[in-house]
Amino acid sequence: MALDRTYLDWNATAPLCDEARLAMMDALSLPGNASSVHKEGRAARAALEKARRSVASLARAEPAHVIFTSGATEAANHVLTPDFRMGRAPLTIGALYVSAIEHPAVREGGRFAADKVREIPVTGSGIVDLAALQAMLCAHDHETGLPMVAVMLVNNETGIVQPVADVAKLAHAHGGLMVVDAVQAAGRLPLDIDALDTDFLILSSHKIGGPKGVGALVTRGEVLMPKPLIRGGGQEKGHRSGTENFFAIVGFGAAAQIALEELGERSSRISALRARLEAGMRAAAPDVIVHGSDVERVANTCFFTLPELKSETGQIGFDLEGIALSAGSACSSGRVGESHVLTAMGRDPKLGGLRMSLGPTTTEADIERAIAAFAKVAGRRRLPGKAA
Ligand code: PLP
Repeated sequence: MALDRTYLDWNATAPLCDEARLAMMDALSLPGNASSVHKEGRAARAALEKARRSVASLARAEPAHVIFTSGATEAANHVLTPDFRMGRAPLTIGALYVSAIEHPAVREGGRFAADKVREIPVTGSGIVDLAALQAMLCAHDHETGLPMVAVMLVNNETGIVQPVADVAKLAHAHGGLMVVDAVQAAGRLPLDIDALDTDFLILSSHKIGGPKGVGALVTRGEVLMPKPLIRGGGQEKGHRSGTENFFAIVGFGAAAQIALEELGERSSRISALRARLEAGMRAAAPDVIVHGSDVERVANTCFFTLPELKSETGQIGFDLEGIALSAGSACSSGRVGESHVLTAMGRDPKLGGLRMSLGPTTTEADIERAIAAFAKVAGRRRLPGKAA
């Protein structure tokens, strides 16, 4: 990171960690294709399977149940489909129920037709409304196929933790399938696919310090499987064809391993840093609203609104002070869209939100600098009653 910059946008992407960088540099000298039977092929296969074991450990899943993909978005499009197989028999999913705060990767509904995707509301605290889901599942028409429910474990904007084990219980009680986007939870909360009681878990490498463009769909078994999204040479046991993104997978594995080993230590350190950050922000501008501060959040995320400050203006202000953070939900075009998460929580999305997200290499100096920048940006607002 450039010395004059403080990077507080880890939920957008994490800088590549040293472990991933070194593992990838080693892998660059391996010439073989992991599908080849010769010595070079076997060496590549060994590195690939090592990465698979590390990614499986992160989710406490079986290595045989990890399918590598090009990222979480592809994993979501793979699993969110009406076409499943139970063993050799086809199985149809009639409708997809997604929470209103899902990332677009899930919210768009994958391969479901738009009229088969239903939105589960969230409460004003930003937590999925279990009673509403229960009512929706009671009304599900089983003639059309089974219900599928997709709820994220941690929201990318607010960091709020969702009660996915309770959601899964409901989904299963109604004979349905459960999908959990654990992209923002990985490396921040202990993951256990069985304890979460989910059928499928989605992971992304670049949120945990691995390279971009690789992720995984993790399954509970091998019997109930979605129709492959990418067909061809039969890699990943036929679930995801195409020569594996070998170097990136190796980096993903290394990042997963260190994220798991350091999870406890990182969480407590980051939690202390965020407490200092939010105390400093409140001291500088007592009217700041920190979304989700009254419910369970992961330790690294601070999503806030400063009254009378547009998020675009705020983002530019912080950028000029040397702080990289996110405004609302940044569209791929770089424009700032209104936050669908704030809307779902019943808050005025026009107020906008700014997100600082911390990571394993965030320092106390970064936090002090962020607080100083916050004080400046907050001080420049045109508050009612304040002379221009
Ligand atoms: N799900 C969540 C919660 C995310 O935050 C993101 C990335 O921003 C994704 C899915 C998409 O991940 P990927 O970039 O690997 O496709």
